[in-house]
Order: sequence, then structure tokens, then C-alpha cells
Amino acid sequence: MKEITILIATGNPNKAREFREILSDYAASHPALPPIRLLTSADVGFSGEIEENGASFEENALIKARALSSYGYIAIADDSGLAVDALGGAPGIYSARYSGKGDAENNEKLLAELADREDRTARYVCAVACVFPDGDSFTVTESCEGRILREYRGRGGFGYDPLFFADDLGKTFGEATPEEKDGVSHRGRAVRAFARAFYDRLSAASRPAKKAPVLTPSQRAFLRSLAQTLDPVFQIGKGGVTGETVRQISNALEARELIKVTVLETSGMTAAEALAELAERTGAAPVQAIGRKAVLYRPSEKHKKIELKNR
Ligand code: IMP
Repeated sequence: MKEITILIATGNPNKAREFREILSDYAASHPALPPIRLLTSADVGFSGEIEENGASFEENALIKARALSSYGYIAIADDSGLAVDALGGAPGIYSARYSGKGDAENNEKLLAELADREDRTARYVCAVACVFPDGDSFTVTESCEGRILREYRGRGGFGYDPLFFADDLGKTFGEATPEEKDGVSHRGRAVRAFARAFYDRLSAASRPAKKAPVLTPSQRAFLRSLAQTLDPVFQIGKGGVTGETVRQISNALEARELIKVTVLETSGMTAAEALAELAERTGAAPVQAIGRKAVLYRPSEKHKKIELKNR
């Protein structure tokens, strides 16, 4: 089976190894799926600093993946950190640079900020972003719940691990083996969620597009009259018709057969243009483009709602 090459934006060999192991476990337990070959920034000769100036884990992960997507491969990146409830989610996206110094100083600052507070719940969060060569992208985010202890326990892991008591393990990440940590950690969960989402997309993309139904003029008129009672459920905005919108609209067609979409001016498209593209990419029949609204129809075997026979 032909393998798929993915480029991960990291200079950290441990992170690359963690991704590689989790992805290959996932592919091994799903033998019908093509395996993934993971390249790192170094493999393509990228050693630049990427400025992580996003406002969330997802934005930062996307910034890093986008920076590498010009190499022509599917690019992924993660961004992670610790969010402490009593500190309003801090250190959050600033986890690595919390004290402006290293891991030891970050931990000391965390203990000092929490002092003797009783409410010490926290979670590690990890977002993984994936950017395809055509610019289409998606992110997944997972977390791992726990609390911040008052003293260090264990020497394993890195960063805040000796202070982070993981609810799922009943011990700190500093005390956990790498396998135990991977099983419940934010990053382990996020990489597995990424693998699921990624392979889902691949199989959706390789499914042959359904053939659009051919409508008679009276069927079309009937669908137009039905569409008048519909509220638009999707908007095509900046970015135009993305892979993600196609996927969502296709799912909505499966459930409802008739879908109205608002095509915003910011999309740079007319409703007729968006309608034609959506029809082509979802295998639906274009019913109508009127003003900034576009209406699509695709019959569904499972959720038959509209009877078009004898019209
Ligand atoms: P990045 O996702 O590599 O940018 O990591 C951000 C920072 O979050 C790290 O430098 C650590 O301070 C913290 N962090 C993220 N994941 C972990 C973890 O699994 N253990 C300990 N610290 C972590």
C-alpha cells in the first residue's frame, strides 16, 4: 500500500518520535489504512524560527503547520501547554516562556503563583493542526485533567510534569512511565484524534463523488417552493468553498436532502458560482441561486425525506 508522507513542524526529535509511534500504532491497528511516513523540519532543511503569535493553541499550531506547508507535503504541527483554573488558564499558550527562563524556573513560578491556594485544578491541552498542500486545514484539540501539587513528585517527563497530578493515573506525569503518560496525556489523545480525523478525510476524499441527480423542471420547481420554507444552515465566507465546508454540507445533505447556504460577499463569489462548485464537489443537484442564497438537493437512501416521484 502506498504510504502517505506528512511533514511535522518540529525541531524536537522526541516529539517527532512520539508522533511517529502513535501514528504507526494507529495504522497498524487499522490494516486497511495506508501507513504514514513522517518527515521533520530538519529532513526538508528548515531550521528557521517560527513566531508563535496566535491567541490560542489552535492558532499557534496552524501558524507552525502553515509555515511548513510550502514544501509540498501535508504539514502538521502541535501546540500545547498547561492551563490552571485558579490562574485564569495561565500559563496557557505561554507555558514554555512562563518565567522567561527554563523548566525549573517555570515550575517555581507556578508554585509561587498558586502559593497555598486550595483550588489547584488544571489541565494540559494539546492542539494538532494539519494543512494540506491546497491550503485546506483542520485542527483537533484534546486535554488531560489533573491538579497542581504543592511538591515535586517523580523525575520522569519534562516541563511541569513533576507537579502535574493526572486524575486518570492517580500519580504525577513525573512518576509515570512514558507509556502510561502517552495513554492519557493531552498529546497522546490529540495525536490519536488527529490520526482518526486524518484517515476519515482521506477516505472521504477517495470515495468517488456521487453523481448528481438530474431534475425535471417540475421537480426543480417543487424543490424551489420547499426551499422557501428553509433557513440557511451554512455560510460561505472568507476563504470560499473550503474542504471543511464541503464535508459539512455533504453530511448535512445526507441528513436533510435539501440545504440552503448563504454566500457572503467576503467569499468573493456569487451565489451561482458557489452553487456550481458545491454541487460539483458534493454530488448534489443545483436547485437555485437567488440573491446571496444557494440551494442544493441530494437524495439520501438512509434519510429519505422528500418524495420526487410522480412530479
Ligand atoms: P510546545 O507545545 O512544544 O510549544 O510546548 C509548550 C510548553 O508547554 C512546554 O515547553 C512545557 O512547558 C509545556 N508542556 C506541554 N506539554 C507538556 C507535557 O507533556 N509535560 C510537561 N510540560 C508540557
